[in-house]
Amino acid sequence: MTAVTVEHVVAWLDAFHRRLDAHSADLTALDSAIGDADHGTNMARGMSAVMTALSEAPATIEALARTVGMTLVSTVGGTSGPLYGTFFLRLGAAAGEVADLEAPAFAAALRAGLDGLQARGRAELGDKTLVDALAPALDALDAALADGADLAHALHAARGAARAGRDATGPLVARKGRASYLGERSAGHIDPGAASATMLIESLAEVVGEALAA
Ligand code: ADP
Ligand code: MG
Repeated sequence: MTAVTVEHVVAWLDAFHRRLDAHSADLTALDSAIGDADHGTNMARGMSAVMTALSEAPATIEALARTVGMTLVSTVGGTSGPLYGTFFLRLGAAAGEVADLEAPAFAAALRAGLDGLQARGRAELGDKTLVDALAPALDALDAALADGADLAHALHAARGAARAGRDATGPLVARKGRASYLGERSAGHIDPGAASATMLIESLAEVVGEALAA
């Protein structure tokens, strides 16, 4: 496996959905500490709607990601829906109407997704949001690919960086979203969005790792 295909992306989304379903209560528990206790249900509901919308997978990565993005924007009530939705819409626009992407183009599409998410949410690294997991993950992915790693190994590095970024949100004071209303009291809890974003990267690493081993 050298290129990421439409089928790989569908498998990634399916793995993300299953992970969210399995950990929905954990995410909601994190959100009950510094938010309104809906992140797990928001994300699981949104990804369930995505998988229904993808029952017949579109032919190109752009069309697929557009369906994902629009479904998340319209079905997830919380802040995270439009943000994850924008991530996929921008990822798809960068990918274009192609059936597969080589590793550098796939990494660039992920990066475009993150840039779009940050343009919309205005969160920077350290604001205690899902950016704190995604940005280090994509930096690690780019660095590993630049070093000559194959995509599976680069995604392994990205997964480690996402987990470290998620864990590093614990002591931070939130500067964006609902958790920021708590001020200093938001410190001492992992950010729920950073936890779900880590699941997104874990799912991707797992699916691409399996495809490579196959
Ligand atoms: P809501 O806060 O509307 O209930 P969710 O609970 O689904 O929405 O999502 C909360 C998560 O959204 C937070 O943990 C945080 O990671 C993320 N988030 C909130 N605001 C922003 C933002 N401006 N930029 C990036 N991520 C954000
Ligand atoms: Mg919430």
